[in-house]
Amino acid sequence: MIVSEKIKALLETVAYLKEVAETKPVFLTNDAKPNFKEAMLKTKFTKYDIDEAEKRLSRFAPFIMAAFPETIEANGLIESKLSSIDELKDDLESYYQTEISGKLWLKRDDLLPIAGTIKARGAIYEVLKHAESLALDKGMLSSIEEDYVVFASQAFKDFFSNYRIVVGTTGNLGISVGVMGAKLGFEVTVHMSVEAKEWKKNLLRSRGVTVIEHETNFTLAVQMGRSQSLQDEQSYFVDDEFSEELFLGYTVAGSRLKEQLSQLDIQVDEEHPLFVYLPCGIGGSPGGITFGLKQVYGDHVHCFFAEPTQMPSMLIGLMTKEYDQVSIDDFNIDGSLTNMDGLAVPRTSGFVAKLMHNFFDGGYTVSEKDNFTFLRTLVDKKDIALEPAAVVGVTGPARLFSSAQGQAYIKAKGLEEKMKQANHISWATGGSMVPEADRQAFYEAINQYV
Ligand SMILES: *Cc1c(COP(=O)(O)O)cnc(C)c1O
Repeated sequence: MIVSEKIKALLETVAYLKEVAETKPVFLTNDAKPNFKEAMLKTKFTKYDIDEAEKRLSRFAPFIMAAFPETIEANGLIESKLSSIDELKDDLESYYQTEISGKLWLKRDDLLPIAGTIKARGAIYEVLKHAESLALDKGMLSSIEEDYVVFASQAFKDFFSNYRIVVGTTGNLGISVGVMGAKLGFEVTVHMSVEAKEWKKNLLRSRGVTVIEHETNFTLAVQMGRSQSLQDEQSYFVDDEFSEELFLGYTVAGSRLKEQLSQLDIQVDEEHPLFVYLPCGIGGSPGGITFGLKQVYGDHVHCFFAEPTQMPSMLIGLMTKEYDQVSIDDFNIDGSLTNMDGLAVPRTSGFVAKLMHNFFDGGYTVSEKDNFTFLRTLVDKKDIALEPAAVVGVTGPARLFSSAQGQAYIKAKGLEEKMKQANHISWATGGSMVPEADRQAFYEAINQYV
């Protein structure tokens, strides 16, 4: 493919863009980012929106417990634990030839109930919000004060069976939307891009979801879904590229993590910085979680998104300030080479990227080889089996300390003396639902790269 004049000009003027286009691993900081207070003045979203999302999820807790008994223990909350992964420090230090200060943690969204990935936060929220609106509009529900356990009744199932939900996905968004949508009684159609794994399609079909397979990438699968849904008045499209509901569903993780950290006696303040490393596909989940975390910790939390070297769509969108006006294809990056299917998004969300330019502290890319190395280390050291997309956050602390920009960031923020008291959370975004055979293949995959 020919590189256009516009792309050529960008490659010449934007620092590090050539390295990114050549799929070299980079760790870059967002030096133009304003402080938290200023950033909040530049967005229409507020703490109020997050509170509303939290309240909506608590209204649905009785239904969630009735429909998914595995959530009873957590009172209908879809939440995950934190695991210490300090045992990985030596491996990270020797692999990246660096020294890491602070404690290492893994946020176990691979264990989230109902759908087993981070998508269970945003997607389930959006489906529930849609169900609530329909039920209120059509008089099934008289007010939001009612006991939402009625959503588990046959009458509600019959009601929702008149409506359809459509989504385009590389797989995991489809599972969250599909499982929750089908449970409520909706007819759900999932448009899957070429990366989608066979077992994800089978799982959805077993829940009564219609799966349409496309030979095209994520961006095109989303377009197909969107146009199908638009032709049908009773249909609702969960739009990964533009959805504000998905984004808000993710934000509630902020206050929940705060509670979790205080229960573990982990401080986050001026003297105790918190670093968070979030796998990034279209940007909704790392964006929403970062936005939620900044509300509770302000500038004391430092949030970095992580992408495959073969799929750096958020990074090029932010670096060039072209957001969704550029895709990895414009730079001749071969996205088919990544095994991190959950992150296989060639063009970022314009909505999320523009918003997050003021909140993300930086981003980095991870090679397939590095990623599979630490996928295996996590199994060997901690018996934790993640899907490839979920591992990119794990190398974050080593990349912060081993890169020139990471070191400069620590210095510029005056954190050199405080890093001993720092905590690093790598967000593990999926893995528990992966079938054993696929798990084994992921574990062996590193052999192709050495
Ligand atoms: C979707 C997904 C992500 C990234 O979320 P986005 O909202 O697409 O950025 C990360 N990890 C896994 C396992 C996913 O499925």
